Amino acid sequence: MAKAEGNSVELDRTAFYPESGGQPSDKGKLVCGSQEFNVLKCKKQAGTVVHELDKPGLKAGDKVKGEIDWQWRYRLMRMHTGAHIITMAVQSISQNALVTGGQIGFEESRDDYSLEELTPELVKQIEEKSNEIVNAGIEVQIRQLPREEAFKLPQLFKLRDVLPPSIPIIRIIQIAEDMNACGGTHVKNTKEVGKITITETKSKGAGNRRIYYKLEG
Ligand SMILES: [Zn+2]
Repeated sequence: MAKAEGNSVELDRTAFYPESGGQPSDKGKLVCGSQEFNVLKCKKQAGTVVHELDKPGLKAGDKVKGEIDWQWRYRLMRMHTGAHIITMAVQSISQNALVTGGQIGFEESRDDYSLEELTPELVKQIEEKSNEIVNAGIEVQIRQLPREEAFKLPQLFKLRDVLPPSIPIIRIIQIAEDMNACGGTHVKNTKEVGKITITETKSKGAGNRRIYYKLEG
């Protein structure tokens, strides 16, 4: 335990994923001897991860063991990987469509795309294409590259002005030909995501469309 202040603690190292980029943080518990503290939420703060607990009682120097709520985390990993897959499907019908926002949830998630229109036929195509990718059982590859090298890749070139120079190493997520810079948590294979159902779409202003989706199981 590096630091404790009321219900908030910082650890020397942690496997808890902090809330970031539309993905909720991990939950779980910290065990200190016979005492258990529920981790309600984690957030990034000044380069460290602050764990918000359900009660105070821990102090700097305490030895704790972290346990991540795996059911919660795995579901979010599937949902997050599903967002990459739906983006691939969207871009298969509209090559220049970009993700403009998104929020991962346990029951339902959403993603916004720069799309002029989203007819029921297009929604059906996106859903079918998404499930084709899921069923193809494609490996989700993760690697890190220095930014100069990363931006030499044509798929990532467009991000060179988006990612601030303070990020020297780019974490690349690749599914088949699709590449993205992403710090989130992913499953290892697209088949782990399970069947994707697009539940609803909404217009979020000119040239912006929102897609809601759920996963089976
Ligand atoms: Zn990702």
